[in-house]
Amino acid sequence: MIANANPLSNYSWYEANQTKPKGPTLSLLIPVYNERQVLTILYKRLVKVLNPLAISYEIVLVDDGSKDSSGDAMVDMCKTLPYLKVVRLSRNFGKEAALTAGLHYVSGDATIIMDADLQDPPELIPDMLAAWKEGYDVVTMRRITREGETWFKKFSAHSFYRLLNRVSDVDIPADTGDFRLMSKKAVEAINQLGERKRYMKGLFAWIGLPTKEITYHREARVAGTTKWNYGGLVGLALEGITSFSVTPLRLTMGIGVLTALVGLLFAAWIAIKTIFLGEIVPGYPSIISLMTVLGGVQLISIGLLGEYVGKTYFEAKQRPVFLLRDVTESRPLMINEKY
Ligand code: UDP
Ligand code: MG
Repeated sequence: MIANANPLSNYSWYEANQTKPKGPTLSLLIPVYNERQVLTILYKRLVKVLNPLAISYEIVLVDDGSKDSSGDAMVDMCKTLPYLKVVRLSRNFGKEAALTAGLHYVSGDATIIMDADLQDPPELIPDMLAAWKEGYDVVTMRRITREGETWFKKFSAHSFYRLLNRVSDVDIPADTGDFRLMSKKAVEAINQLGERKRYMKGLFAWIGLPTKEITYHREARVAGTTKWNYGGLVGLALEGITSFSVTPLRLTMGIGVLTALVGLLFAAWIAIKTIFLGEIVPGYPSIISLMTVLGGVQLISIGLLGEYVGKTYFEAKQRPVFLLRDVTESRPLMINEKY
């Protein structure tokens, strides 16, 4: 007798007939870090857009270790307001980790990621849902204007996206932040990616799937201040480039070859001058300039190499991307109970 010829025979009838409780149609995923001032405005504005749509939804708020009591405030909101799920992380892990965490707790057929500060207007949700219903798995939102940001931030963001696209192997859409819709299939794909150092915009692009782009005007923050400083943004930019390309390493190799060639030509020129023209070459300035240039090139290369080695080091440790403090959900509404 062939044992277990049918692979399904290991499953009991009971297991085969268990279906997971069906999630809502739409999940909103919002990372929150020190956003006490915007929470109520955010909830009100979301409900105003979502309720007329007559679909089932949940709002998943991820508290990224806020220090301003946003976490407690959100847990309190669960006691009185419906459709909320609050995921609190054990400390501040950064927006990328907060999104990673949230994507494990959304259960909707579609998930929309947006910022807590209402810079991503909720009024666009119906358009995003319409595109999803047309059959797209991902709906990306490209900013055509940005309110309330300095020209320097706009300029550096603009240049960074173009540079990243040139050097990276995947096509990461320009001027497109984390504000986007993803189907369940896309969310499951992201959840399969195991890397610890996560540049989400790159990962979102890496999975592919049919994508539609919608353009919009990015508003200024409703309240509070930005959580980013230039140090952090430069770090994120480096993370983005080194996570998705080894072009910088190749570039240093190119620079190495170039400097070596120039050095050789220079040496040949000196030899010719001394042997045939009998000129004694004054050495001090040329040696100093060569030494500093070469030293600089070498240090930059080592630094770059270090960036990649450091990455491997962090991946090898296999620490989780985030740690959970707790998860709180709103009480389900009773039948016929209206909010
Ligand atoms: N955020 C987060 N963890 C952080 C920093 C920011 O979850 O360590 C959240 C923040 O609460 C907001 C979103 O990420 O919902 C975008 O942050 P912010 O508005 O400060 O960035 P900006 O729009 O200025 O780029
Ligand atoms: Mg913002």
